[in-house]
Amino acid sequence: MLKGVELIRAGDTPRTIPALALLDRLTVILARRLGVSCHVRDTVISIAFAEDAQRGQYYSSGILASLTAPPSGHAILAVTGADLYVPVLTFVFGEAQLNGPRAIVSTRRLSDEFYGEPSDESKLNLRLAKEALHELGHTQGLRHCDNWRCAMASSHAVERLDLKEAQFCRRCMDRFVG
Ligand SMILES: [Zn+2]
Ligand SMILES: [Zn+2]
Repeated sequence: MLKGVELIRAGDTPRTIPALALLDRLTVILARRLGVSCHVRDTVISIAFAEDAQRGQYYSSGILASLTAPPSGHAILAVTGADLYVPVLTFVFGEAQLNGPRAIVSTRRLSDEFYGEPSDESKLNLRLAKEALHELGHTQGLRHCDNWRCAMASSHAVERLDLKEAQFCRRCMDRFVG
């Protein structure tokens, strides 16, 4: 059972380091939804080593593997403004170790700005919460859910993400706390 979540900012430039306020809001939602304590680490970790200059993106699995293990029973969630990829996919919103303690999410494609529209902060907050819940679900062994409203439903576009709720369906929640 998950005891707590440590959040950490990852990035190297003003564009890739997410605002602290964004993570503060995220911790509030996560703590409420998951019923565990969540806190933001002061430090910012560099992800320059994971940059693929040709793609203009960052290798998600490389960053994930580099995250310091949190205390036993806790999960660590890195949040970055950098665009993430894994070799077989154009991009990923995030990635996590299945039944492992590490997870990462990117805000890059969660903001309407990326799609050429005015940014909407509340929309970004909500999308980020859904994506964070999804990846943290994987750290607890949850796989993708057929219920399209569940945070564990797979989504590779913001339109699909917007259909989901910022919480697990009952079945996934039972597994999460189990
Ligand atoms: Zn997933
Ligand atoms: Zn579900």
